[in-house]
Amino acid sequence: MIGSGFVGMVLLASVGVVIGQMIMPFNVGLLLFIAPALLLALIAQMMVKSAYASANRVHARLSGYAAARFLLDRAGLQSVDIEQTPGHLSDHYDPRSKVLRLSNEVYHGNTMAAVGIAAHEAGHAIQDAERYAPLVIRNLAVPAAGFGSNAGMILLILGVVLNQPPLLLLGIILFSCVVFFQVINLPVEFDASARAKTLLVDLGVVPAQEMAPVNRVLNAAALTYVAATLQAILTLLYFILRYAGSSRS
Ligand SMILES: [Zn+2]
Repeated sequence: MIGSGFVGMVLLASVGVVIGQMIMPFNVGLLLFIAPALLLALIAQMMVKSAYASANRVHARLSGYAAARFLLDRAGLQSVDIEQTPGHLSDHYDPRSKVLRLSNEVYHGNTMAAVGIAAHEAGHAIQDAERYAPLVIRNLAVPAAGFGSNAGMILLILGVVLNQPPLLLLGIILFSCVVFFQVINLPVEFDASARAKTLLVDLGVVPAQEMAPVNRVLNAAALTYVAATLQAILTLLYFILRYAGSSRS
């Protein structure tokens, strides 16, 4: 995936902040505490936008589809299908159905942006075929992380609002799954981009001296994952400190 996870995290945090402000001003404290991560997320998102826009103006020999198909075929993954999916930057690899889904712009685009993103997603398919350990662990952690970000966040807010340290502790434990997911997601995303860069050059899809726009897009996307991880860690840390404070008083 290219930087879509963090958007959900920011949304979740924003919703939490709004609800929190209605109930109690404690979420202003949370907002200030995670501000560095939110700022980094904002900067990363701006970098993705600008890198994508400029790489979209640089012509590539292949479309995103053709580049991904070529990389997958060369990796022996003829069985992995490539489909179109609606949305902007909605590109992802689905490990359950072994399908690579590319947004229309990436699927058809003969640009460095399209080729770079398509190659990154092909990198995920290759990780899956190789049973790349961080990807296997990340996929196993998906349900726990989903539960942790919903139920965990509710318990954290209730724990603070109702001043119930046991609820807070339970929320902390559940939300730890989110942090674990975000941390293990980093090597998965960095490795997919590293594979993409190497394969594009080695297989002659993009000449090495023309890789700059591709690198900018993939590096900016990587920064969004760093921001999302930092946000999850700071959120957890905030509630650990609240818990430590409440159990002392
Ligand atoms: Zn990815």
